[in-house]
Amino acid sequence: MAFVEFRDVCKTYHMGDVEVRAVDGMSFTIERGELVVIVGPSGAGKTTVLNMLGGMDSCTSGTIELDGSLVSSMGERELTQYRRHDIGFVFQFYNLVQNLTALENVELASQICTDPLPAAEVLAQVGLADRMDNFPAQLSGGEQQRVAIARAMVNRPKLLLADEPTGNLDPSTSVGIMRLLDRINRQGTTVVMATHDDEIVDQMRKRVIELKSGAVVRDQARGVYGSDR
Ligand code: ADP
Ligand code: MG
Repeated sequence: MAFVEFRDVCKTYHMGDVEVRAVDGMSFTIERGELVVIVGPSGAGKTTVLNMLGGMDSCTSGTIELDGSLVSSMGERELTQYRRHDIGFVFQFYNLVQNLTALENVELASQICTDPLPAAEVLAQVGLADRMDNFPAQLSGGEQQRVAIARAMVNRPKLLLADEPTGNLDPSTSVGIMRLLDRINRQGTTVVMATHDDEIVDQMRKRVIELKSGAVVRDQARGVYGSDR
């Protein structure tokens, strides 16, 4: 059985009378230890896929599994535990608490999980050993994203999800963040990230799943196949 499995997943949003099919019959699998990049234009469904995988949004139909657990049938209580213990999430705009230091931001996250890593140790691992006592406003964008990555890793997640983690960073800073995610992956964490930045994808040379209009149009794991979407 695959580590992550999306099977015939659909997600429909209702905006008044209008029905938006954000994800339209999507299937893919990801093996434990992989680093997968989900690409596609704005509106393709990347964020919706990550949010459903991370237990922040539910699917309308189909099934979603992680490590043998059926995420798509979990109730609210189970989903809370799943988000706390199994998932690390990194966002485009870091989402740090502005009146807490880097260390305190990571400690805050560690307080809601059962077996956290020491916050200072994780910050050192992302290259911020000497910036722990700085507030977010005293850190560059790249440094703030490193704090956010440390916060996501402090609970030893089974799966690290990153939605446009370099979307707010300049190209050279982006390379540093990608190298960090690559290192985290090589140390054993399965990573799924979404980006619309083709340059990053070329540099990474990782498995790419390409989305268009809520469906997979290319998946390197299965060879290239076309679609008329
Ligand atoms: P991407 O991350 O690839 O830009 P999204 O997953 O954010 O794509 O969006 C996919 C589609 O679903 C878009 O058409 C978007 O407008 C729509 N959508 C996403 N979230 C919502 C929502 N909460 N309510 C209504 N429509 C949404
Ligand atoms: Mg998005």
